[in-house]
Amino acid sequence: MSEPEGTLIETVETRSPRGTQAFGKRFAQRLGVGDCVALNGDLGAGKTALVRGIAEGLGLEDSRMVSSPTFVLVQEYPARVPVHHIDLYRLSDAGPEMRDFGVDEMLTRGVVLIEWADRAGHYLPRPHWRIDIEITGARARRFTVRRIERKS
Ligand code: ADP
Ligand code: MG
Repeated sequence: MSEPEGTLIETVETRSPRGTQAFGKRFAQRLGVGDCVALNGDLGAGKTALVRGIAEGLGLEDSRMVSSPTFVLVQEYPARVPVHHIDLYRLSDAGPEMRDFGVDEMLTRGVVLIEWADRAGHYLPRPHWRIDIEITGARARRFTVRRIERKS
């Protein structure tokens, strides 16, 4: 992986899905209406597990609502701050869909969390948070959080 652009905010290691959910819940304290989080990492890295924690941190009572069903690309969860969960896994070039989803409109109402965000390329809204997830052991994961600013 080439070094992504942006300002390094923090690096966190977790040792269980529960630990990842707790990290997501804590990270959510940084978020409010208008924030977009771009999640990248291999299949099984823990993107959805992290979304579960972030949604919980934003006030979603039943975090079991968070999943990555096969045919739904966008889900909205009724948290204190509405959470829009997008999964671009099945798209290779997500540019057209990113326009159709109406991400800008979602950001006027809540937060947007995007799995496989790199597939959206330059269609990602700016500024945004970027979290890269590495599998470092059977139950170990490393999360690298960066802040990607608006293009100057
Ligand atoms: P992704 O959305 O990135 O494909 P998921 O969150 O759906 O990944 O799945 C992560 C998988 O890895 C789950 O099966 C989970 O039980 C397992 N796992 C093991 N250790 C961790 C950890 N530290 N954090 C998150 N998930 C973990
Ligand atoms: Mg997933």
